[in-house]
Parts: sequence; C-alpha cells; structure tokens
Amino acid sequence: MPKGVYDRTMAKPRPRRTSESREKMRAITRAKWTDPGYRDRVHAALPRGERNPSWRGDAVGYAAVHTRHQRSLQGQPCASADETCSGPFACALRRDTPAEHLLGSTAEASRGLLFSLHAEDYQVLCTHHHRQYDWDQEKNAALHRGKTHA
Ligand SMILES: [Zn+2]
Repeated sequence: MPKGVYDRTMAKPRPRRTSESREKMRAITRAKWTDPGYRDRVHAALPRGERNPSWRGDAVGYAAVHTRHQRSLQGQPCASADETCSGPFACALRRDTPAEHLLGSTAEASRGLLFSLHAEDYQVLCTHHHRQYDWDQEKNAALHRGKTHA
C-alpha cells in the first residue's frame, strides 16, 4: 500500500444531539456569561480602537446622538403623515438644520453622518417618508451642483 493511504475504518459516529444535550450546552454557555469575570476577559481580549471590528470612527458620535434623539422622539407620529406611511418610524435630521448646529465629518465618504445635538433639528418620519425625504435632498443637492457648474 502506498505511503499515506490508510484503510478507513468506519467513521466515528457523531454524538447524537438530543434536546437533553442541547439543554446541557445552553446551560454551559449561560453559566459562562453569567460569570462577570468571563465577560471582562472576552472584552479585554478584543483589540482596541481602530483594530476592533466594531470600530466606527466618526460614526460613533453620530450613532450615540441618533439613539438619544430617537428615544426622545419616540411615540410621535410621522412628520409627513398620510395614507402612504409605512415601515418603522425613525428620527431624521431636518434639512433646514442651521449649519452651526451640524457636527460630524463633512468628508464625501461619510456624507449623511452629520448630526446635531439639538433635538428640535430632528423629526420623526416613517420608512417610506424618510426615504422620500433623503431622496428629495439628494435631488436638490444635485440640482444645486448642476446650477453652480452651469
Ligand atoms: Zn410617513
């Protein structure tokens, strides 16, 4: 027989997963995460800053502020409420936000990541109207660009 070729005996049967064994595994995972030391060890093992897979750079401020406004606007109806409303509601930065309120990167790559710390610069929009609003905004910007280059 050539070297490196072996007669395979029957493959070792995989341990059967029963609802009991599943429950056992779940219990082990649960126990691991309820140990406060485990969470800290996992956290300590993660790379910091830019090397962390969750690194969002400029998006951090944006996301934190967005969450805060979202919470304060919760329960309000869509700002352009009509019969075409659909999808979950979200807070949207108003187009007429004064420039001095705007924070965040103005770099082309992170457009749309501008935010404001003023709650009044935000409005609630449903998914449908939010899309429409952002689309109108882009169209307007394109029109303006067209004008300046004409
Ligand atoms: Zn709507």
